[in-house]
Amino acid sequence: MIRAKRLSILGSTGSIGRSTLDVVRMSKGRYEVVGLTAGQNIELLMQQILEFQPRVVAVMTEETATTLKERLGPLPNVKIVYGKEGYIEIATMRLADVVVSAMVGAAGIVPTVAAIEAGKDIALANKEVMVAAGPLVRKLADKKRVNILPVDSEHSAIFQCLAGHRKREVSHILLTASGGPFRLKQDGFESITPEEAVKHPNWSMGQKISVDSATLMNKGFEVIEAKWLFDVEAEMIQVLIHPQSIVHSMVEFWDGSILAHLGIADMKIPISYALSWPERMPLDLPRLDLTLVSSLSFNTPDTERFPCLALAYKAIGMGGTATTALNAANEVAVEAFLRHRLPFSFIAETISRVLEDFVPQEITCLEDILSADALARVKAHRIIDGLMNNGHL
Ligand code: NAD
Ligand code: MG
Repeated sequence: MIRAKRLSILGSTGSIGRSTLDVVRMSKGRYEVVGLTAGQNIELLMQQILEFQPRVVAVMTEETATTLKERLGPLPNVKIVYGKEGYIEIATMRLADVVVSAMVGAAGIVPTVAAIEAGKDIALANKEVMVAAGPLVRKLADKKRVNILPVDSEHSAIFQCLAGHRKREVSHILLTASGGPFRLKQDGFESITPEEAVKHPNWSMGQKISVDSATLMNKGFEVIEAKWLFDVEAEMIQVLIHPQSIVHSMVEFWDGSILAHLGIADMKIPISYALSWPERMPLDLPRLDLTLVSSLSFNTPDTERFPCLALAYKAIGMGGTATTALNAANEVAVEAFLRHRLPFSFIAETISRVLEDFVPQEITCLEDILSADALARVKAHRIIDGLMNNGHL
């Protein structure tokens, strides 16, 4: 019998982390969980520990680790660690075959890079890692012969459409976007509330990515992610608004053929494929009934109403650490919006101002990324504070 594939899951209490554990439950012993990490959600993490019995678990702070140990009582087989070193320990566990990178935001950069350096295959959900550190991740993964298997549904679709083809046969990547909850909204963007922004029409996701989907920054990030995952120029990637979220993305080849990936909107499908690749695991999920699909529509996005997408292209054009700054500024602005400190329409304005006089540096090592990230955060906070104190940016 083939032994179970061993997984370390970074961000196990999040939306992707929970769906990954659902896939493990559905896999009939095909996967074993050896490491888990969470931020602060002890309640859910405790349930996950009791059910999956990982060897090591990491949380954000020493205090959370102490509380977790007390609450768990004597569980001799589980080691609890914390902080940056703790996350790195889970990402680099000798036992793990695959690391599921599903933390949100730049917090995932250091552990994901550590996992690649340790030679682990990566099931990558955390797209901010590619936005902030794409060239470094690509270089390290190639050097260590590590597979980066996409979990993001569009990239999983593209990955599957590309299989068996040579790069030169590809003429375009057609990246689909639902358009988010404000696809048809013409005005009043300044008064959008966080509650309205996180209500995605087709997918149930964490708060940050839901806001990114509402601003279309998520699609800008996905263009950058596709560029580094598939080694293509951004000009070859076309974003198409496809409100039905049935076609998860497509690839056009040099003979004019277009291959598409279709399915229901359930992240367990791309997660499962990333874990079982190059095989496919049977999944007991509802099927897409094509007879109920009355229409599939595709339109070009409106970057006037959704300037974040244009900002992502701008950062790609600037090169080097500009996309690191894009990501950091977006993270700070989205956090401020979620805390009711920044109007929705000023998310793009904040990022635009951060990029305005940002001088991109070439990315040669992790330090280049971490310092660009820190610099852009300081600038973004300053811009937002200016708005709060003066009533204008
Ligand atoms: P989420 O907010 O639901 O979960 C995030 C996880 O990361 C949680 O376990 C949380 O505890 C942990 N975390 C948050 N901040 C942390 C920090 N500073 N340090 C350590 N751990 C921290 O997010 P999600 O929706 O599961 O998304 C995770 C990643 O996957 C994101 O990068 C997102 O863009 C990407 N993604 C998500 C979906 C989706 O359907 N949810 C689809 C495609 C890609
Ligand atoms: Mg996606």
